[in-house]
Amino acid sequence: MNRRIVVKVGSNVLTRSDGSPDVTIMSGIVDQIAELHKKGHKVILVSSGAVACGRSMVTPARKLDSVGQRQLFSAVGQIRLMTTYLSLFGGHGLQVGQVLTQKENFGSRLAYLNQRSCMEVMLDNDVIPIVNENDTASMTELMFTDNDELSGLIAAMMDADTLVILSNVDGIFTGAPDAPGSTLISKVKLEDDLTDNISATKSGFGRGGMGTKYGIAKMLSEEGVRVIIANGRRNGVLTDLVERPDQVPHTEFEPREVPVSNIKRWIAHSVSFAKGRVTVNEDAARMLRGDKAVSLLPIGITSVDGEWEEGDIVNIYAPDGSKMGVGRASCNSAATIAMIGQRGGRPVVHYDYLFME
Ligand code: GLU
Repeated sequence: MNRRIVVKVGSNVLTRSDGSPDVTIMSGIVDQIAELHKKGHKVILVSSGAVACGRSMVTPARKLDSVGQRQLFSAVGQIRLMTTYLSLFGGHGLQVGQVLTQKENFGSRLAYLNQRSCMEVMLDNDVIPIVNENDTASMTELMFTDNDELSGLIAAMMDADTLVILSNVDGIFTGAPDAPGSTLISKVKLEDDLTDNISATKSGFGRGGMGTKYGIAKMLSEEGVRVIIANGRRNGVLTDLVERPDQVPHTEFEPREVPVSNIKRWIAHSVSFAKGRVTVNEDAARMLRGDKAVSLLPIGITSVDGEWEEGDIVNIYAPDGSKMGVGRASCNSAATIAMIGQRGGRPVVHYDYLFME
């Protein structure tokens, strides 16, 4: 079966200890993506490494703050990264296209669909999209946590069946990967909770760590995407994962079998753009958590915080203050306040636009 696979490669896999591109590793990864592409799989590459590359290339004339450094290093390093990919993929007769994005592009449905159609056009034309955050333009408070978060958004947006996160370890271990007696967890079921197994230590260059990888993997597996964390420095890791998964160490998150619709995925991933908060009563909380698809009606609402417009994303809270889910509001906050507790009336969030956690 041909798959749509998002492959995320971290800075620690792609760059040497001084930050310069590790062309041997990059070339191995490109060879494998080219092989998968030739077998009919559609691959999207989410590549970090721009900041690390740039850091190895320029020495700032005066001391820069972290934003200035990120902007300078990513501006210089991204070209180096892409030039390297251009020549490596070119060796296989493949074209690559650069997608630089930022969080705002996921915040409105219009921007989201626009970005998705850009990448669909690339895939239709056999161009391999290479995605990174636009670090020169992103504002610190609006940045992706790291490229793991970005790869999760891309996998959800592009209806990928698999997201492979390539790190510099084999996956999630029962303790710190190098601690004696620590073993690799190869399968994570939907009901498993590995929070205690994840070490908070971050690796060298990248912004991410196992904590965000785990959070993204859990979220996507709920949405029906298979997530695999594996070691990008192992020879043939990608092709093995697709063709002979038993022969390569990795952690795989079992996906929910009934996949979530694309619009619900967008809503679930837009939670950081939520403009307001709606608290519901006990009856509404029970019904929303039940098995039936129900909409959020004015009668179930007890209070409203924040201001939003029709179509914005709102968080939904239970009476005890716990967060229950997120949805796209079908009316603005003023109209919602005017309807609080009323019987009848149209849904404030229709069930097609509701994502319960
Ligand atoms: N966008 C950053 C880069 O290319 C990487 C962010 C991350 O470490 O995840 O250097």
